[in-house]
Amino acid sequence: MIVRSRVVVPMVGEPIENGAVAIAGNQIAGVGRFEVVKASHGGDVLDLGEQIVLPGLINAHCHLDYTVLRGQIAPQRSFTDWIRVINSRKAALSEEDYVASINTGLAEVQKFGTTTLLNLEAFPELLSRLSRPPPLRVWWCAEMIDVRERAPVREVSEHLYDWFESHPEWLGGFGVAPHAPFTASEQLFSAASEISRKYHVPVTTHVAESREEMQMFRDAGGFLFDFLKSIGRPLDDCGGTTPLSSLMQSHALDERWIIAHLNELTEEDFGLLARAKKFHIAHCPRSHTFFGHTPFEWQRLRTLGFNICLGTDSLASNSSLSLFSEMRELLRKETWISPRDALTMATVNGAHAIGQADSLGRISPGFRADLIAIPSAQTGTGFFDTIAAFEGTVPWMMVDGETVGFR
Ligand SMILES: [Zn+2]
Repeated sequence: MIVRSRVVVPMVGEPIENGAVAIAGNQIAGVGRFEVVKASHGGDVLDLGEQIVLPGLINAHCHLDYTVLRGQIAPQRSFTDWIRVINSRKAALSEEDYVASINTGLAEVQKFGTTTLLNLEAFPELLSRLSRPPPLRVWWCAEMIDVRERAPVREVSEHLYDWFESHPEWLGGFGVAPHAPFTASEQLFSAASEISRKYHVPVTTHVAESREEMQMFRDAGGFLFDFLKSIGRPLDDCGGTTPLSSLMQSHALDERWIIAHLNELTEEDFGLLARAKKFHIAHCPRSHTFFGHTPFEWQRLRTLGFNICLGTDSLASNSSLSLFSEMRELLRKETWISPRDALTMATVNGAHAIGQADSLGRISPGFRADLIAIPSAQTGTGFFDTIAAFEGTVPWMMVDGETVGFR
């Protein structure tokens, strides 16, 4: 099969006008000018007309569990207040609510052009409750907390491993997600790291998200410190350190790790980062705005060699699961970033973060056939500007070589 369109943006090399992508099974067999692709690859031609074809987007940080909380939590006085509010809302949700939340979230993610998602899943046992395999690639990272009781990280991971072994029709896979240095113990981080190494799966966590997390580790005080004290977390690791340094003292972060946020960093942290192995960083532009965090240090982190990708976070701190909206927010706040850079973060960099740099995020021979199309502007606008300005539902999508319809 050959997909032809006004332009193909492969994210390797330049956009190709009158471009085409040859697809064989679930893979990309060729990409180039339409006449060249047609001459060397057989098959039916699907002409998408005046559209831009680009790789499906990759969301590197999301919580589908909280889709049901859309519009229910306003920005709070503090991050800790937000945690209290979300905890009280979660307490009122049933298993059915969570299943509905995951299904609604999957449909929304897909509608906005995302073909690969890293989802932090607090209830991995609910996978068996989904009525059918998700029509996109999802890495389900079992999210765990062990403030009150031991987290069964090995048991859950073995269960997820078995699930994906016996469900080959499910695209994607599993991973592990110790929640954060303030809710997950050293033992939990170690176990998660071991699982990631054993099964070659992504491992992700939240670090240095809020000022209160910094206050907790640096000053042994503040709202988050008090809240965790009230629920019985031992706090002897607090005082005279930072969230990042506290984590890195006990765990060597490496290229398997996707660290979400990193908003609060000290000069000492930057010293640590300069010497550290280069893990991946997931930034969530609109969730960042919602909380009013300290500005994210794009330029310094990028200069140090970190791979920065984009996420939506959940609808408990965002208004949609659209990565196009994340790109727009990013470009609004960081005027020096180009639309092409933003799209790289939402495709190539996300693929790299989840260990799929050689199969996802680009339109290149041998890569998986995950493509989307959006209308091209009539005249005068650059292709990357058009992509970054796109709003709404993508009109066409292919995942793993199959055209996907929208519910
Ligand atoms: Zn998160």
